[in-house]
Order: sequence, then structure tokens, then C-alpha cells
Amino acid sequence: MSDTQFDLIVIGAGPGGYVAAIRAAQLGLKTAIVEEQHLGGICLNWGCIPTKALLSGAALAQQFKHSQQFGFSLGAIDFDIQQLVRHSRQVSEQLVQGIGQLLKKNQVTVFNANAQFIAKERLELTDAKWQKQQISAPHIIVATGARAANLAHVPVDGQHVWSYKEALVPEQLPKSLLVIGSGAIGSEFASLYQDLGCQVTLVDIAKQILPSEDIEVAKYVQKQFEQHGMTVLTEAAVQNIEIDKGQVHCHVETATGVQTITVEKVLSAIGVQPNTQNLGLETLGIEFEHGFIKVDPWCKTNVVGVYAIGDVAGAPCLAHKASHEAILCVEKIAGLTHVHALDRSQIPGCIFTHPQVASIGLSEQKAKAAGFTINVGKFPLQANGKALALGETTGFVKTIFNQETGELLGAHMVGHEVTEHIQGFAIAKYLEATDESLAQVIFPHPTLSEAMHESVLSAMQRAIHI
Ligand SMILES: Cc1cc2nc3c(=O)[nH]c(=O)nc-3n(C[C@H](O)[C@H](O)[C@H](O)COP(=O)(O)OP(=O)(O)OC[C@H]3O[C@@H](n4cnc5c(N)ncnc54)[C@H](O)[C@@H]3O)c2cc1C
Repeated sequence: MSDTQFDLIVIGAGPGGYVAAIRAAQLGLKTAIVEEQHLGGICLNWGCIPTKALLSGAALAQQFKHSQQFGFSLGAIDFDIQQLVRHSRQVSEQLVQGIGQLLKKNQVTVFNANAQFIAKERLELTDAKWQKQQISAPHIIVATGARAANLAHVPVDGQHVWSYKEALVPEQLPKSLLVIGSGAIGSEFASLYQDLGCQVTLVDIAKQILPSEDIEVAKYVQKQFEQHGMTVLTEAAVQNIEIDKGQVHCHVETATGVQTITVEKVLSAIGVQPNTQNLGLETLGIEFEHGFIKVDPWCKTNVVGVYAIGDVAGAPCLAHKASHEAILCVEKIAGLTHVHALDRSQIPGCIFTHPQVASIGLSEQKAKAAGFTINVGKFPLQANGKALALGETTGFVKTIFNQETGELLGAHMVGHEVTEHIQGFAIAKYLEATDESLAQVIFPHPTLSEAMHESVLSAMQRAIHI
């Protein structure tokens, strides 16, 4: 086989693409990956990882604030946001380098270029010096991800109006910030900047913040945000903005009329749009659904030999969904027989706000709308010994069970490090645990996870500590 002929080619080296390439190589396929920017994609460079590095700084700021409770008097503390940004960029760079090494170790050929289909099994690559070459394979996976969607009347200029990229590398902490969009990305940045000392206004056109979450969770988090000093406007839309002398005047339509909110920066976080342009997909006759590439449960498109995974293949736009699709898609291509199709009800969602939010499965509203008769359990962290010891009593665990069968339909958590704990419910759900079986599980003491147990018991009217 020549250096331009492969068994499998992946376009895009995000958590979908690089995982697909490594797994394909492990399975003995001669594999290439094409990346036009940085290995690691949005996740490692401009998404999951650098945001969490910044959020760790914000969490520390909050710990300093509450350190008196533990006997410390810290006095005035200096904060250098540029050092926090440096930390965030260093973490990204380290991981990106690691991906390069992993690809090398697995003998994946890496092309630093833009890829475009010129036929079903053939790509044209264009590198930064406009040099072109062609490579081909019988299996090509599109893993090109997504980019920020824009509001036409609030154009991102990188200076006064930010996208998430500018919000990740601020030169200084703005005094005030208005965030448009309260999904995971918008809410995480709102929480981050508020906790670092910026005055934040969070605006969403939806009835609740975190529109995909259980209503009770969203209302609770909104209250917490407001207690931290954030202004939250739901059912509100930014009509237009005016930029004058370094300030942005935002005209926001609310239920009570139009308000003008003046801030130093605006962050547009209204969602993402798939990277499907200039790939030659239309020429191949690839089908789309709401702009995303339409795939079957094995990530196959309607064109034989062409696959799509991750953000470009549709919601939820999450790194772990991209990586999971990568594995199942490649294993199916390699002919493995144990492969399971993606079950979207098994994908956990984590939002790294303060307090954190984590969930899996159906919300109470969705479970009812789907026609289930349900038992709902709830346990506050206020009644959990470890939470009290940590001084982290904000939040609760809510569980939803099918009353007839006892099956766990959904779990929703708010509070300290719940993003680490949701995996317990993810495993339970995957193994089709019931309320009865979860009640039998022994949870260690003293841990925050005991609140998960108590929530299950609460759904069975058997909670001990409330
Ligand atoms: C601020 C922010 C925070 C986030 N936080 C989280 C989080 O905490 N948890 C979570 O699960 N998700 C999070 N996400 C979402 C997560 O980053 C994405 O779901 C994930 O990166 C999708 O992976 P992917 O492989 O599909 O695409 P991407 O990571 O977007 O990678 C696609 C790659 O394809 C390359 N590419 C595109 N077109 C071409 C082409 N024609 N030729 C060659 N290369 C091409 C791009 O350069 C890019 O590197 C966050 C996103 C953002 C923006």
C-alpha cells in the first residue's frame, strides 16, 4: 500500500477524530488523520479543558472567600488573570502534545492540512503553504466538529463582543460582562467571571436558564447565581447593541419592556453550528438533518464508506459523545461483533458552574411527558455529613424511577463535584438498575455519594436522614 492509500482516514483530530484514529490503528487498520489546526480539536484547545483550568481558579477564589470558616484570615489577595490564563494554556498545550505522541505511538499518519472530498474514497489535502496532495481510503470518517453560532445583530468583533475563544484568553478581568445564552457554555463563563469578581448579566430567551436541564435544577442554579450577585434575565432577548467609548450598550427586551444594560464586554454563547462547509459533502450527496450530517446509530451516512461522528453528527455536542461514537464507528468498520449502537439516554451531561450540575436520562418533565408514572426522590446536601464538613452544602440529588418497574429513568445533581459523581448513576442506568437494587448498594461513609443513596431511598419513601 502506498503512502497515500489507507484503510481508514479521519478528518479532524478532536476527541471524536483522534480517538477514532487510535482505535482504528489498534485494530490493525492503516490509518491517517487530517487536522487543519491543532490536534485535540475544540475540546483540548478551546473547550472542555481550558475552561476547566480557568474554573479551577474561580473555585479557588471562592474557597479563599470562605476560608474564615476553617480558621484562616487571608487578608487582601492579589489576583493576576494573565497567570490563570497561562495555566489554562499550558494545560491545553501539554495535552495536545500528548495526543501527538499517542498518534505517533500507534503509527497513525498525521497530515496538517485542510481536507476536502473530491470523490467518495478520495480527499484533497491543502496545507498552510497551499501545497496539495491526494489521499484515499475505503472508509472516511468526518469528525470536523462545530464552531460558535452567531447572532447577526450582535456580531463578534473579538474586542467588545467575544466568542468563547476571546473569553478564554482575557488580557484583563472586565468589570462587567453580559452573556447571551445560558446553555452549558454561556453559564460556565457567566459563573467563572462572576466568581472572579466581574459583574455578570446572563440573558436567555428561554423560560429557564440551562434550557436542557430539569426545571427544578435550573431554578435552583438561577437562585444560586443570583445569590452570588449575578443578574439573570430569562425570556429576554438582546435586540441590538451600541458600542461607544469602550462600553457596550445592550438593549434587552424583557417581559416588562426594553432595558438598556451597559457593560464592558459581551459574550455571545448562543450555541454551535456544524463544520460541514467546504468539505465537498454536497457533491457526494451526503444527507443533512437540521444542518448536521445525518447518520444511523453506527455513524454511517447515506453514502457507503463515509461516516460522521461527534459535533458534526448532531447533538448533544459533548466530547464524551464524540469519543464514544468514534469507538463504536471504528469497531463496526473493523467487523467487531460485540459493538452496541449509541443509546443517547445513556449520555451524561456535566456543567461546571458554581454550583456544578450533572444529569443523565429523563428530567421529571420529560418522564411525565413520555407517559411514565414516576417516583421522584430528592435529598439535599445540607443533610449530608461530608458536605457539612467540606462547607459545601449547596445542592441536592434528584432521582426519577418508573413506578411500575422501578427502573432508573433519570438522575439530576447540583452541588460540589457532582460532575464526578454522576458516573455512579450512569453505570446504574447502563446496567438497568432499579430503585430496589440501588437501595441494596453499600455507599461508603462519610461521602457526598451517600446523598445519591438517600435520594434513591427518598423515591421509595425510605430516606433515613430527612
Ligand atoms: C467553551 C467550550 C467548553 C466546552 N466544555 C465541554 C465540556 O466540559 N465537556 C464536554 O463534553 N464538551 C464540552 N465542550 C464541547 C466539546 O468541545 C465538543 O463536543 C468536542 O470538542 C467535539 O469533538 P469533535 O471531535 O466532534 O470536534 P472538535 O473538537 O471540534 O474537533 C474538530 C476538528 O476538526 C478540524 N477540522 C474541521 N474541518 C476540517 C477540515 N476540513 N480539514 C481538516 N481538519 C478539519 C478542526 O480544526 C478541529 O480541530 C465545550 C465546548 C466549548 C466551546
